[in-house]
Amino acid sequence: MTLFDSPAFEGHEGVHAFFDAGAGLKTIVAIHSTARGPAAGGCRMWPYASAEAALEDALRLSRAMSYKNAMADLELGGGKAVVIGDPRTAKTPALFEAFGAAVDSLGGRYWTAEDVGVSPADLAHARRRSAYVAGLDGHPAASGDPSPVTAESVFRGVKLCVARALGKELSQVRVAIQGVGHVGAILADKLHAAGARLVVADVNAAATLAVAERTGAEVVSTEAIFDVEADVFAPCALGGAISPKTLPRLKARVIAGSANNQLSGPEAGRALFENGLLYAPDYVINGGGIINVAGEIRALSLGEAFDPAWVAAKLDRLTVTLEEVLDRSLAERRPTHEVADEMARERLRRPA
Ligand code: NAD
Repeated sequence: MTLFDSPAFEGHEGVHAFFDAGAGLKTIVAIHSTARGPAAGGCRMWPYASAEAALEDALRLSRAMSYKNAMADLELGGGKAVVIGDPRTAKTPALFEAFGAAVDSLGGRYWTAEDVGVSPADLAHARRRSAYVAGLDGHPAASGDPSPVTAESVFRGVKLCVARALGKELSQVRVAIQGVGHVGAILADKLHAAGARLVVADVNAAATLAVAERTGAEVVSTEAIFDVEADVFAPCALGGAISPKTLPRLKARVIAGSANNQLSGPEAGRALFENGLLYAPDYVINGGGIINVAGEIRALSLGEAFDPAWVAAKLDRLTVTLEEVLDRSLAERRPTHEVADEMARERLRRPA
């Protein structure tokens, strides 16, 4: 199979490979779309087994960023960078400076930020060579940790889905949260404050203990979380929580959480729909984080300080978009993930 026939290629505008022998840099920057604005998406550093595996990941992730940015109503396209190497052993300032130079050579068609394996300290080195670097620390434009904003968009999404699917308030429901890390723990606090009863699971016992002490949540094992009696299942750990194996075990009528790639595949989304469950498409409901990063890109582009009011307005708009997805799903009797993909593609074809 060639690059252009790969299913992950799907109309990418550009795929750029950079090599700097002196700095030890091998990176691929995939730009899926700049129809809505410069492509934006984080930089992932990972010890990929092959250049093909790195390319596949870059393509898949950059297309996902186009869809996520479009649904968050951002004037940004979708792109992603992958650096081939082990983040525990292969990081050097020179490597990230060379990465910055590679980003800069794209002339602003791609903005980078943090992703798995890359920290604000790494990005500070990249920033020395390019203005198109967000995710910085200690800068007036810096947006800080996106997790609280992600948790807020997920909280609003859970509330909306509970009202739509169950006709209830949060104070009348029980929510099962899988994973109480950065996002899940804040989501738990927000749901508790709104009167919801909680049951939580995490591989990290200290994390569940802290949440249980603050919110009175019941703690169960990471296996048992799929079987608990709950109205909402909120995947906030890793991807693939909803699969043909787990779906028959879930008692919840609403699936709404922060994790990326919650569905093991499109067939899992169809099965959810056919079984009468309401699924909030992951890349729509968790859009708070990218909105926060976009606030930093905007501030850096304008030479201004980070503006929380701009972020708040985009968050309000995101909830309206989620409502639109649910409305169309109901009217057209189609799964929400299919409707969201179609809306994203429409937004890419007809940029705001
Ligand atoms: P995190 O690493 O802080 O939290 C994930 C938690 O899940 C950890 O506490 C981990 O111990 C736990 N976990 C791992 N495997 C588990 C399992 N099998 N069962 C139960 N718990 C398990 O990550 P995060 O930043 O809170 O992000 C959570 C999810 O949301 C991820 O999928 C991430 O990609 C997605 N997301 C995060 C943001 C953000 O702003 N942080 C934005 C968009 C999407």
